[in-house]
Order: sequence, then structure tokens, then C-alpha cells
Amino acid sequence: MNRVALVTGASKGIGKSIALDFAKKGYNVAVNCNSNPSLGEDVVNQCRLLGVESDCFVFDVSDFEKCKEMVDLVKERFGSIDILVNNAGITKDGLLARMSEDSFDIVTKVNYKSVFNMIRHVSGIMIKQRKGRIINITSVSGLYGNAGQFNYSASKSGLIGMTLSAAKELGKRGITVNAVAPGFIETDMTNGLSDDVKQKAVELIAMGRFGKPEEIASVVSFLASEEASYLTGQIITVDGCMSM
Ligand code: NAP
Repeated sequence: MNRVALVTGASKGIGKSIALDFAKKGYNVAVNCNSNPSLGEDVVNQCRLLGVESDCFVFDVSDFEKCKEMVDLVKERFGSIDILVNNAGITKDGLLARMSEDSFDIVTKVNYKSVFNMIRHVSGIMIKQRKGRIINITSVSGLYGNAGQFNYSASKSGLIGMTLSAAKELGKRGITVNAVAPGFIETDMTNGLSDDVKQKAVELIAMGRFGKPEEIASVVSFLASEEASYLTGQIITVDGCMSM
């Protein structure tokens, strides 16, 4: 039976690349998204064309009960959940002195609490299977901080603590938990940055360019593979060597 990967925020950008990479490797793929189901359905169709089973699950990952509903549906549809990739995320950048409470709350709910929601509901299934892979998409902003991203950095730093604690707690159950910390990657999230900000960012990157979503997906795919069976509790930075 094909292994089953559940990827949150898989309708575009990094999550879409991760979903398609899993499909190319023969995994059945549960595609999650929230506000744009038609994009999620496109990804599902592309996965099916690659010969695997795939369905779209439109649920807001910041909602604890909705995550439970989604996880139950995915398990019912595919029979297991072998890999969970917590990728869904948003930004609401702004200076700290002017940041609204709403902006802080929504970013931490979608980027950070969602990961508790998902791990909380999926870990029981993986514990029963005595195997599983959890991969959290954090950010270099969570490692080093970034001016204008107080809310986002807080959420992404929190994911690092969650990754380390979950790895320690779930290791004996055959479950690995790792995080990938991308630098600047070409997606809608960075498309909105001004040319000036993009240029300044590129100057900080040794490789002299932004990364591509596929360059994150290949690392996630390795973490999900048999070759990474003894790799857990690690934060893997994929940023083209950037000094922030
Ligand atoms: P993106 O292109 O904006 O895609 C974000 C994805 O998250 C979409 O599929 C979106 O689906 C989904 N999403 C947002 N809110 C959601 C919610 N409440 N419930 C379920 N899904 C939700 O972003 P990206 O650049 O690919 O980023 C993916 C991840 O990588 C994020 O966690 C981000 O923080 C992280 N990251 C990105 C970069 C970068 O430079 N791009 C760098 C470091 C880390 P809907 O539109 O349907 O809601």
C-alpha cells in the first residue's frame, strides 16, 4: 500500500511543491488548504495524473476541532497517515510599535497553534502505527528574528520548541520530528515584497538568489524517506547561506 502524506497549506507555493514531490515518489497525498479550494483541487488533479490517490481537504488549520475533523476524514479515506507536513502559514508584517493585537493573534494562530492542533490529532494515529514522520516548516525568521516580523518570528520560533519537544516525546514510538527553516523562497509570500527589499535580501544570500519551492520540497522528501530513519529533533536551514 502506498504511504500517505498529509500536507497543510498545499494549494500553492512550498506546500504545492511538497505535495507534488510526494506524488512523484508514489505517496498518496492529502492536500489541505483553506481559502482557495480551486487551487487545492488543481494540485489534487496533478497528483492523480502522477498515478497516486489524492483528495483536497478544505479546513482552517488554526481551528482545533476542524483539524480533528480533517485528520479523521484523511484516515478514513486513505487508511493511515504516515507523514504530516505542517506547512500552512501566513505573514502580516509591520513594525512592532504599530502592530495590532489582531495581527499578532492571527499569525500565531495560523502558523503556530495550528501545529499543536495537527500534531495533537495525528500523533495518536502514528503512535498506534508505531511509525510516522512529522516535518514542520519554520523559517530563518524564527531562528534569527527579523525586523517587521515580530508576530511571524514568534510563531516560527515556537515551532522550533515544538519540534524539539515532540521529537523527544515521540522518538521511542518510532516517530521522527524535524523542521525545515527556509530563507527567502519564490512564492506568493515573497512576491509582494518591494524590489528594494528583494534586492537587499539577495545581497545577504551567498548564492545570490532566492530559493525555489522545489528546493525545500526535496529536503522535506529526504526527511520523510527511509534514508532519514535516525534523523530527528533537527532544524535544517535551507537558505542559500544567508546572514541576517
Ligand atoms: P504561500 O504561497 O502564501 O502559501 C501558503 C499556503 O498556506 C496556501 O496553500 C494557503 O492556502 C495555506 N494556508 C494559509 N492559511 C491557512 C489556514 N488557516 N488553514 C489551512 N491552510 C492555510 O506561502 P509559502 O511561501 O509557500 O509558505 C509556506 C510555508 O513556508 C509557510 O509556513 C511559510 O511561513 C514558510 N516559509 C516561507 C518562506 C518564503 O520565503 N516563501 C520562507 C520561510 C518560511 P489558502 O490560500 O487556500 O488559505
